[in-house]
Amino acid sequence: MLVVGVLLVTVAMRVAIVMAVVYLLLPKGPLCPHCGIEMVPLRNRFFDRLLPALQRRWCLECGWDGVVRRARVTGARDSGLGTRNRLRAPSP
Ligand SMILES: [Zn+2]
Repeated sequence: MLVVGVLLVTVAMRVAIVMAVVYLLLPKGPLCPHCGIEMVPLRNRFFDRLLPALQRRWCLECGWDGVVRRARVTGARDSGLGTRNRLRAPSP
């Protein structure tokens, strides 16, 4: 019986390690891994309910779609307007 328990624990540890590596390999945040623009989030019941740390997204520019790690939402979220203001050169 002890052998079965040890085998089950080692299998569970392998599954946990593989899942952790796969999670770390996924792209993080809303930006497309190919062209770098913000992707559109897609609703997916599986990810929303069972794996809320993951999100399915679709890039309107290059058509890439896939699962990404959900980025933390901070208080001041970057928008196009904020980026534009940040890139504006200060007037002398
Ligand atoms: Zn793209």
